[in-house]
Amino acid sequence: PGTFIVKYVVNLYHCRTCSFTRGRGKHLASPSASLNHAPSPRFRHRRGSRFIVRAESDFYSVLGVSRNASKSEIKSAYRKLARSYHPDVNKEPGAEQKFKDISNAYEVLSDDEKRAIYDKYGEAGLKGSGMGTGDYSNPFDLFESLFEGFGGMGGMGGGRAARNRPMQGDDESYNLVLNFKDAVFGVEKEIEITRLEGCNTCDGSGAKPGTKPTTCKTCGGQGQVVSSTRTPLGIFQQVSTCNTCGGTGEFSTPCKTCGGDGRVRKTKRISLKVPAGVDSGSRLRVRSEGNAGQRGGPPGDLYVFIDVLSDSVLKRDGTNILYTCKVSYIDAILGTTVKVPTVDGVVDLKIPSGTQPGTTLVMSKKGVPLLGKSNARGDQLVRVQVEIPKRLSSDERKLIEELANLNKAEPANSRR
Ligand SMILES: [Zn+2]
Ligand SMILES: [Zn+2]
Repeated sequence: PGTFIVKYVVNLYHCRTCSFTRGRGKHLASPSASLNHAPSPRFRHRRGSRFIVRAESDFYSVLGVSRNASKSEIKSAYRKLARSYHPDVNKEPGAEQKFKDISNAYEVLSDDEKRAIYDKYGEAGLKGSGMGTGDYSNPFDLFESLFEGFGGMGGMGGGRAARNRPMQGDDESYNLVLNFKDAVFGVEKEIEITRLEGCNTCDGSGAKPGTKPTTCKTCGGQGQVVSSTRTPLGIFQQVSTCNTCGGTGEFSTPCKTCGGDGRVRKTKRISLKVPAGVDSGSRLRVRSEGNAGQRGGPPGDLYVFIDVLSDSVLKRDGTNILYTCKVSYIDAILGTTVKVPTVDGVVDLKIPSGTQPGTTLVMSKKGVPLLGKSNARGDQLVRVQVEIPKRLSSDERKLIEELANLNKAEPANSRR
């Protein structure tokens, strides 16, 4: 990670000898001309000044993302690149230009409207729409705005410090399976989690106790190495994180216990209070119980993902519980009382006389407590399934036939 290949081809440039106004003084250069007009140290531009060499900008390849990259992928690619090419950090020739190209690309691709135009018509389309390239907001403002909360440039402190700054630990996750009733009423569970904790041997520094870090000889403390090759097609540059020091710019004798990471994987039992009303897919966040940070950074959080086992008779539908009870046609006609299982135990339910097949009876507040409001509860919904016998004994048949005759003599509507 941290290795990316940057390619830019010099083909358009502003010529100082003819003009410097926009739209003029740009030449499509032949390879040899581009070499002749390559920026000399004398003409090194200041911040915000016009570009001398315009990079060919396929904005996606400038940021190293695919054409269907999401907004967050684009943002994170920009952040990564901008951080390593910021002129305050990167003193390599070409870094400032590269920094501006990255900013330009980000400015277009992070804006839905501009990105759509760019995808359809390319850079020329942006110019035609009056959203022209070259009219970007100051790339340094863009950079500062995106790095707010990371201490802006103050936190960068010139490259090496940036890679040595405190790093928050990653979040950790845990999958918890609950039985049906525990999810309904909440439960206290003891769980065993494995995560990175600060190493006691080196106190989290990663360096062997008693040793002092020295400046990395490979990168001279820069944390990254840059190699550039000039070819007839342009300049090919490769920036990679220094392998020797892993980007920190320092070299320490690693602590034997943690291998230099400053953290070790440990198992811990924690007691977890699962609130009433959770369901499959619920996620609990336990603050600061994730992986330890590095270089004094805060720990991440622990996320507990809940999965609830189903019950053989009760089905859950949000905060309601669904149940189906079977009654005979006679009980449906005459009315009866049935025993119904609920999460509170077995309860008597009165089936009124004349209950129609498929009727749903509501057992108020016998459902699941509302998450975070455990005094409010859903209902249990009981669907009444009326069973009609497939076979009748001769006595039963006789009685039903009598009933049928009675029905013929006395039309149904007169009984209502
Ligand atoms: Zn250690
Ligand atoms: Zn190094």
